Amino acid sequence: MNSVEHTDMEFQLTDEQKQLREEVRRFADEEIRPVATEYDVAEEYPHEVMEKAADMGLLAPHVPVEYGGVGYSSLENAILTEELFAADPGIGLCVSSAGFGAEALMEFGTEAQKERVLPEVTAGDAVMGSAISEPQAGSDVTSVATRATKDDDEWVINGSKMWITNGTVADYFVVVCETDPEIDDRYSGYSQILVEGDRDGLTRDKITGKLGIRASDTAELRFDDVRVPEENLIGQRGMGFLQLMQFFDETRTAVAAQGVGIARGAAERALEYAEEREQFDRPISDFQAIKHKLAEMHTDTEAARWLTYRSAWAVDNEAGDLTALASMAKEFASRVAVDVADEAVQVHGGAGFVNDHDVERLYRDAKITQIYEGTTEIQKNIVARELLDEGM
Ligand SMILES: Cc1cc2nc3c(=O)[nH]c(=O)nc-3n(C[C@H](O)[C@H](O)[C@H](O)COP(=O)(O)OP(=O)(O)OC[C@H]3O[C@@H](n4cnc5c(N)ncnc54)[C@H](O)[C@@H]3O)c2cc1C
Repeated sequence: MNSVEHTDMEFQLTDEQKQLREEVRRFADEEIRPVATEYDVAEEYPHEVMEKAADMGLLAPHVPVEYGGVGYSSLENAILTEELFAADPGIGLCVSSAGFGAEALMEFGTEAQKERVLPEVTAGDAVMGSAISEPQAGSDVTSVATRATKDDDEWVINGSKMWITNGTVADYFVVVCETDPEIDDRYSGYSQILVEGDRDGLTRDKITGKLGIRASDTAELRFDDVRVPEENLIGQRGMGFLQLMQFFDETRTAVAAQGVGIARGAAERALEYAEEREQFDRPISDFQAIKHKLAEMHTDTEAARWLTYRSAWAVDNEAGDLTALASMAKEFASRVAVDVADEAVQVHGGAGFVNDHDVERLYRDAKITQIYEGTTEIQKNIVARELLDEGM
């Protein structure tokens, strides 16, 4: 690929998609915004909000209807993610990560695995986690060192995982392990294994003191001879890394939508504040410096939204330029989130520096979108690789 294709795309949301946006916006305004600061300060997982989100059908809504989900497309997922993150990224992530790893089951899992796990997750009775990163394996996923060895009809897992979202609250993890180290190919020899959260030998330590998304649970996991039955293997042995790669386009598009939500939330709050706050006997929105900030914040947010929609559309239509678009959208929307949240604090002056105002939290929360699901630098590497046709 030498440039991004310009395939046809609908520029109209359907009535159902508009309705979805309105319903999630109302839910986020009524159930998330009023409690966001409280959970952020306490660094506490919002169990009560999660119950309400389950009632609304917002947990793992991409899961097909036959397993209790709604079967949302990537575009619908982007719409609802924006609404959740515009209200509060910390709680927004709790809601949108409840089914982390569900894609692996949906695409490669056995019927028994799907029937057992997916309906519990969509009903809000179980939470999932996706355990890829390790202390020594971040951007380079192929350096995963957690080992799973076969002992009769069980897998025995040893190693540790770092930065795992839902780490202390999850009931199921999809864990990337090395199962076949003798295979002399950088991308083979890894497998995805389903591990229940209550298995003997699994220790989970919550990571506190995060810069942002503090309502979201993050943990380090340690596996000391954790045994699971052989039927917990997801998909084909040795193909775990290649399976995982297939979902990055979708999950990166979702993080782009998180960035759009944060940017919109910050831009809207800045607009509101600028109209209220008076200095020199007039609203600060009268000053051209502030007007220009507001104009740029809203323009950048709109641009990020359309690139994200374009990427979501490419995921839903399996377009050829999908990988480059997903990385472009993730990189651009996360940069916009950080920049817009920064300007929103500036528009608030001193008031933006304390947590009486949401922009203080959005400013801290925005940063994570440039780090997880592949850093900004990795996204740029991918875009360049796709442009130069370099292969993996
Ligand atoms: C709050 C939070 C939640 C997370 N949730 C999960 C989760 O649920 N599951 C999970 O598996 N992981 C999760 N992660 C981990 C996250 O995906 C990693 O932090 C991320 O991939 C970066 O890896 P790293 O932190 O090891 O940084 P490193 O890979 O050590 O990178 C450090 C710096 O070097 C740069 N760098 C590295 N390689 C290159 C290169 N080839 N070219 C240019 N620059 C490079 C990076 O861009 C970065 O700036 C989470 C992280 C956080 C902070």
